[in-house]
Amino acid sequence: MSDFLVSADLPYCKGCGHHLVVRNTVRALEAMTVDPLSVTLVTDIGCQGIIDRCFATHTVHGLHGRSVALGAGIAMDLPGDGKVIVFMGDGGATIGLQHLLEAARLNVDMTVVVHNNMLYGMTGGQPSSLTPCGFRTAITPEGGKLPHHDLCRLVHDAGAAYAHRVVGLGDFSPTLQDAIEVEGFALLEVMELCTAYGVKNNPGLRLRDLADELGYDLEVRRGNGRPAFDLPYRADTPALLDQVDRVAVRSVSPLEKQYTLVLGGSAGEGVQVAAQITAQAAIASGLQVTKKGSYPVTVGTGFSVAEIVLSPDPIHYHGISHPDAVIIVSEDGLSYNRECISEMTSGAVWLDENLPEPETGAEVHVRDFRGRAGGVNAALFGVLSFSQETGIIPAQTLLERMRQSKIGSKIPIDELEQVLT
Ligand code: SF4
Repeated sequence: MSDFLVSADLPYCKGCGHHLVVRNTVRALEAMTVDPLSVTLVTDIGCQGIIDRCFATHTVHGLHGRSVALGAGIAMDLPGDGKVIVFMGDGGATIGLQHLLEAARLNVDMTVVVHNNMLYGMTGGQPSSLTPCGFRTAITPEGGKLPHHDLCRLVHDAGAAYAHRVVGLGDFSPTLQDAIEVEGFALLEVMELCTAYGVKNNPGLRLRDLADELGYDLEVRRGNGRPAFDLPYRADTPALLDQVDRVAVRSVSPLEKQYTLVLGGSAGEGVQVAAQITAQAAIASGLQVTKKGSYPVTVGTGFSVAEIVLSPDPIHYHGISHPDAVIIVSEDGLSYNRECISEMTSGAVWLDENLPEPETGAEVHVRDFRGRAGGVNAALFGVLSFSQETGIIPAQTLLERMRQSKIGSKIPIDELEQVLT
């Protein structure tokens, strides 16, 4: 099996045109002798998108029609020779048309492969804006009456470095290789048929005949030589890096394996700041860290929760399903995390003493966070208590990061230190 696949058992219906797109993409990548992990495959909703699990490259799966936006974001800051390849259907291309045009206008260095079977296969065969006149679909049994968008022409006019339409038959891997090797935005539209709906509703139709009858042009459109998009600050990157708040290692954490921590409180009470400082202190203790925050769109009300993963080794996944520790400093934080706490069969929960004790298999440590440090500093006091009691992040390192924080002057650090002792 190819180094680019983890499974050669492709998930499509028998005869589906998507098979050939995958096989030709793999052939093209093999011919380019690139490392599978230098390739990021971005897909979105639609039958083509279920291919992710078969590829040995990096894969990212997005919302319907958004794979170009995701791919562009990745491509814009991809170091070295990395390649971003986006797979999308004609439905996704229709939904995300503006993303396509914008990525083409910016000339982002990426390759978009549109699997154009002229219908929405996953939802039952409805027409998209790329469905040509006369092509019968589930809701146009007599054939559509409206003309289709010419996607290649649209992205070419928008500024793409390369746009090309092929009939998806046989070996078109050299064309795919061409598209992938282009510097700048490349779109390859592969005309194909959905055996489940396209063939059923258009009996006897042959793909090549359709392309001929409808006058689909198969010409290669190249851009006007505009350079591929580059981040305007990239040339200044070394100087900018000098300004980055580098966290020097100050102490050594005793942590030997990955540890996950959830901090829950109320919006506007510094939960995210406390988590940020904790993450910096963890780095200063020699650990690797990920931190992510969750809060309602109305950022000044309701819960505020931060998830922190700590590890002596590289972290490959930042999600937390069963935390090792949870710090809860307010009712909002408890409500949001109650289910997760109830599912804990081990680990520890640090809980503000005014809150009802939740059902849990974890050890519960009740502390007077709000009473002793006030609501606005309860989260900081919570992480400080955690660090002092576990030693995973040395408390002195955490205090030092608080002092160095941009809001350090607003944190009553001496008081917190006293409360701690
Ligand atoms: S429904 Fe159509 S597009 Fe989807 S896998 Fe089957 S043949 Fe392919």
